[in-house]
Amino acid sequence: MTRGSPRVDVLDAARNADFTAPAARKERVRLEEVFGMNLFGLAEMKRRVSKPHFDAVLATVREGTALDPTVADSVAVAMKDWAVEKGATHYTHWFQPLTGRTAEKHDSFVKPTGDGKAISQFTGESLMQGEPDASSFPSGGLRETSEARGYTAWDPTSPAFIKEGPGGAYLVIPTAFVSWTGEALDQKTPLLRSISALDKSTRRALGLLGSPVAPVRATIGPEQEFFLVDEEFFFRRPDLITAGRTLFGTKPPKGQELDDHYFGRIPEQVLEFMNEVELELYKVGVPVTTRHNEVAPGQFEMAPIYTDANQGADQQHLMMMTLESVARRYGLVCMLHEKPFDGINGSGKHLNWSFGNENGNLLEPGDTPHDNAQFLFFCAAVLKAVHQHQDLLRISVAHYGNNHRLGANEAPPAIISSFIGDQLFDVFEQLVRAGEATESMEGGALKLGTEVIPAIPRHAGDRNRTSPFAFTGNKFEFRALGSSQSVSFPATILNTIVAEAIDEMSDLLEAETGKGIEVEVALESVIAAVAKEFWPIVFNGDGYSQEWRDEAERRGLLNLPTTMDALPHLVDEKNRELFERYGVLTPRELESRYHILLEQYFMTVNIEGETAETMAQTQILPAAVRYLTDLLRAVDAADDADLEPKGILRTARKVNDLVNELTEKLDELAERNQQLGGETVMAKAEHMRDSIIPAMQAVRDAVDPLERLIPDDQWPIPIYRDMLFVK
Ligand code: ADP
Ligand code: MG
Repeated sequence: MTRGSPRVDVLDAARNADFTAPAARKERVRLEEVFGMNLFGLAEMKRRVSKPHFDAVLATVREGTALDPTVADSVAVAMKDWAVEKGATHYTHWFQPLTGRTAEKHDSFVKPTGDGKAISQFTGESLMQGEPDASSFPSGGLRETSEARGYTAWDPTSPAFIKEGPGGAYLVIPTAFVSWTGEALDQKTPLLRSISALDKSTRRALGLLGSPVAPVRATIGPEQEFFLVDEEFFFRRPDLITAGRTLFGTKPPKGQELDDHYFGRIPEQVLEFMNEVELELYKVGVPVTTRHNEVAPGQFEMAPIYTDANQGADQQHLMMMTLESVARRYGLVCMLHEKPFDGINGSGKHLNWSFGNENGNLLEPGDTPHDNAQFLFFCAAVLKAVHQHQDLLRISVAHYGNNHRLGANEAPPAIISSFIGDQLFDVFEQLVRAGEATESMEGGALKLGTEVIPAIPRHAGDRNRTSPFAFTGNKFEFRALGSSQSVSFPATILNTIVAEAIDEMSDLLEAETGKGIEVEVALESVIAAVAKEFWPIVFNGDGYSQEWRDEAERRGLLNLPTTMDALPHLVDEKNRELFERYGVLTPRELESRYHILLEQYFMTVNIEGETAETMAQTQILPAAVRYLTDLLRAVDAADDADLEPKGILRTARKVNDLVNELTEKLDELAERNQQLGGETVMAKAEHMRDSIIPAMQAVRDAVDPLERLIPDDQWPIPIYRDMLFVK
């Protein structure tokens, strides 16, 4: 093997890898036996806690009532006994700081008895409250650095579970994370508040509609896309390690390489990986169900069955963590970044969202939606919310990684609109036009032209993958999320804006019925009026087209193409007022989030800028110079042999030109990397956008052509073709 040619080593290593599945997966397991075995769910709690105490927890979970601290003591004991039986030695308060990921600090159950021995102990107090040092988590100005105190508080509505690993097992308790002053420092707190807001507004509306009133839950089902890359490649790319995406690299010629499996590891490896991810998630009660290959080579998707929004958000974090940790057992790295490879499809996360109660899903249209007034009322509320708060939905998916996808013809555009299918389109159009809806289009049956295959029912509307917010049967699918994102904030936004829209519609309804108009009649006129209002947001066509961009502008829809265009609107008066009115975020909490989002943008680009500089300077440039030296030597040798070195000289000139360009652009990037652009976080973020990103691109414009010129065995980093063939 040639020294200094990492690519060739790696190809050999991967080709020769003797892959065997980790022992854990050797024997197949039965779903019924493993599902939930490491989850302290309601069934387990019921078995171990006295009835009155269990009922108290149940009321909290089901109806959101406050929990008596004495109950916590008996739950703590039961939880600890269960966890210790499962081999756990520690517990952790698990929370979602504003980093976008999760955090945990472990404490052991040890309690010295004073005689040189110890017992394991866990109290209600330790269950209910923890005190991690908050100073290392982003607070966006909510906390002076001198005030490090932060608290984690037990969330009884999301069950605790055991995390097992080679390092032992520990009990994980989902918690909220707040500052000493009680302000939210996390994603869960506002999510829980928004869930209550939606519950309250919906119950009120159900009452007005004369429907049975029962606690209402928002439900979510997130579909997760990701890339798998051989770790041999991953760790040879500083950009993947520090930035999560390639900062250099040219797209392999289409087709040929993409279909070429000669070197890729066998698909069984990925299947084994998925099996193990599923097993781990089943154990902690996450019902992962879907798994499949995605559009790009090396890209896959997994999704669980939906559940209520709070637990679903926790499960989503677990899913991301599990994908990442299990991949390493298979010599793979799971990349959750939105855009690991330029020119290759990126990864998103579809957030399926609905709300309902024990009587059913409130977004279930039935076969004839035109006469389902309750459905039309709630569906109209969602569309009204989307129309009213396009900015917030856009902001909820705005971060640097997602900039590379949104609007790039592989993901929904940055313009928010809603696809509602032919049938609903028709029903709402009747309401808009005539103030009433008298019929629903039928889907009918789909005949396949052969008798052996039974006819299958056809949906009344087709799908549309270009829409950022599509009605898909009995839920909305918010498709603009980035793959690395926590679903908590987008779900919080949805819950809050829909709560408001429902309230506004309830107000209208009350005003009508107050005049003595019958509910049924009033309802139709309210829905028709609201449909007129939201109608511009409805778009069933091709969201990728330029025509739609023009049309959207004519309709007056918002277009906030990039993160930096979107973020400042978070703190607009409209939004400040909305979050405060619904008790979801105080103005200070909102301001702090805005600050953190800007800071994250700034820091992410800053890291990329410095990584690009280092790689270009210490890997790419030396490789180019080495090749140039080889070429110049070859020119001398040719002269000695009385050969005409025209071709060698031409190549040398090309390399030399690119080296000149590269060093010039590199100097520029290095200089800009030294600057911050100003004192405020906004000035820094703007510096990144206006100065660093273009300078990085300029360096890349010199590096990528070099990748095509420099000999394969001298190129210092794995290339796209290498990395994209794990299947
Ligand atoms: P797709 O056709 O988009 O793949 P699926 O039926 O597979 O749709 O569902 C995708 C996700 O939507 C799954 O996680 C599923 O559990 C979830 N989902 C289904 N119904 C609801 C609902 N009422 N609320 C939230 N999510 C739901
Ligand atoms: Mg989907």
